Amino acid sequence: MAASRIVIIGGGTAGIITARLLARTHVGPITLIEPSDRHFYQPLWTLVGGGAVRPQASVRAEAQMIPRGVRWLRERVTDIDPERQRVITSSPAAIDYDALVIAPGIQLNWEAIPGLREAVDRGDASTNYSFELAPRTWELIRNFKGGVALFHMPGSPIKCPGAPQKILYLAADHFRRRGVLPGVHLVYGSGTASIYGAPQYAAPLNAVLARYGVDARFNHELVEVHAQRKEAVFQVKGSASNERITVAYDMLHAVPLQSAPDFIRRGPLAATEGPLAGWVKVDKFTLQHADYPNVFAAGDVAGTPNAKTGAAASRHALVAAANLLAFLRGQEPVARYNGYIACPVVTAYGRMLLCELDYSGQPTPSVPFGNPFRERYDMWLLKKYGLPWLYWHVLLRGRKLPFVH
Ligand SMILES: Cc1cc2nc3c(=O)[nH]c(=O)nc-3n(C[C@H](O)[C@H](O)[C@H](O)COP(=O)(O)OP(=O)(O)OC[C@H]3O[C@@H](n4cnc5c(N)ncnc54)[C@H](O)[C@@H]3O)c2cc1C
Repeated sequence: MAASRIVIIGGGTAGIITARLLARTHVGPITLIEPSDRHFYQPLWTLVGGGAVRPQASVRAEAQMIPRGVRWLRERVTDIDPERQRVITSSPAAIDYDALVIAPGIQLNWEAIPGLREAVDRGDASTNYSFELAPRTWELIRNFKGGVALFHMPGSPIKCPGAPQKILYLAADHFRRRGVLPGVHLVYGSGTASIYGAPQYAAPLNAVLARYGVDARFNHELVEVHAQRKEAVFQVKGSASNERITVAYDMLHAVPLQSAPDFIRRGPLAATEGPLAGWVKVDKFTLQHADYPNVFAAGDVAGTPNAKTGAAASRHALVAAANLLAFLRGQEPVARYNGYIACPVVTAYGRMLLCELDYSGQPTPSVPFGNPFRERYDMWLLKKYGLPWLYWHVLLRGRKLPFVH
C-alpha cells in the first residue's frame, strides 16, 4: 500500500485513540490537528462538581497523549474542502489529505440561552460542562444552606445526557448528609419527556428522584435566565399557548446548549436535514461519510442517532480507524459500531447505576456479575477509580476494555 496522508481533526478521546491505532500500522504520515495543550477526561467533572475529586485528576498535558510518529499541529481547524481534500486552519497553509478523521467534539453555545452567561458571571450559577467551572459547582453546593436549588437539562443533544441529573443527585445527597435537605426545594427542569429513555433504567432513577423529594418538571425547556433577579424562564413543551413559567432560584446548575463546531455544522460535510442535521453525515454503523468515502467521523461530532458519550467515542475510534485502513486498501468497511453507549449515573456518594444501551434501545449490561438495574457501591468505585485508570492506561492506548462489548 502506498503511503497515504492521514489527517485527524481533534485530539480528545476519539482523536487520540484513532491516532494511536493508525500510528501502529505505519500506513503513512499522520497529522493530528489540536489547538489545546491540555487533554481532559471529562467524565470526572461530575465528581469535581460534587467535591469528590480534585480538578487536576481530570487533565493531562496533550503532548503526553500524542502517539509517537504522529505530527501534532497546534492549530484550530476553520474549514474543510472535501472536493480538494484539504483542511484549512487558522494559519495560511492548507493541509492536504488522502483520508480524514473528524473528531473535534461538541461546541458549547453559551449565547443560546440569554442571560445564562451573566448568571454564571454573577456567581449564582455554574456548570460541570467546563473544566474551569466544575469547581464552582462544588462551591455552590458546599455553601448552600437552603432555598431553591435548580438543576437544568436541555431537551436538545448534549454530551453525556446523564451528567445534568448526576450532579442533582450528588447535591441532594450532600444536603441530606449535612441535614439541610428539608429546607431545600430541589427542582429538576428538563426539556426531555422523562428521566431516562429506556424504561429499565427510568424505573430506578424515578425512585431516586422520589427518595430525594425532587420536584421534577419534564418537557420544560430553559429559554432565558434573568440573572439579576435569579429567575429561570422555561417554555413548557406541548402546551397550547407556548406557556412560559418562571422559577426563582438560589443556586442554578445549568447546561449550555450544544452543537457540532461551527466549521462542521455550517460546512459541506454536515447532514442538512432530519434530526441529525448539523452533525457529520456518516453511516451509523461504519462511521464513513455518506458522500465522501475517504472521510470518517468519530466521537460527539458524528451524526449517529444515539447519545453522545465517551464510551461511544472510544468505540467510534476503533471502527473509524479499521474502516479507514480498509478504504485505503480499496476494501469495503470491515468494522461496525453497534450503537453502544454507557452512562454511569451516580445517584449518591457511594452509589452508581451503570446504564448501557445499543442501537436496539435495549439495555446491554457488560459487567458480568450483580444486578445492572440497581444502584451499586462497586459501580461507584468503578466510576471514581476504575474508569479514570482505564481511560488513561487502556483506552487512550488504543486497547479495548476487557469486559465491555
Ligand atoms: C460533565 C461531563 C460528564 C461526562 N460524563 C461522561 C461519562 O460519565 N461517561 C461517558 O462516556 N462520557 C461522559 N462525558 C462525555 C465525554 O467526555 C465525551 O462524549 C467525549 O469526550 C467525546 O470525545 P470526543 O473526542 O468526541 O470529544 P472531546 O474529547 O471533547 O475532544 C475534542 C477535541 O477536539 C478539539 N477541537 C475542538 N475544536 C477544534 C477545531 N476547530 N480544530 C481542531 N481541534 C478542535 C478540542 O480541543 C478537543 O481536544 C461527559 C462529559 C462532560 C462534560
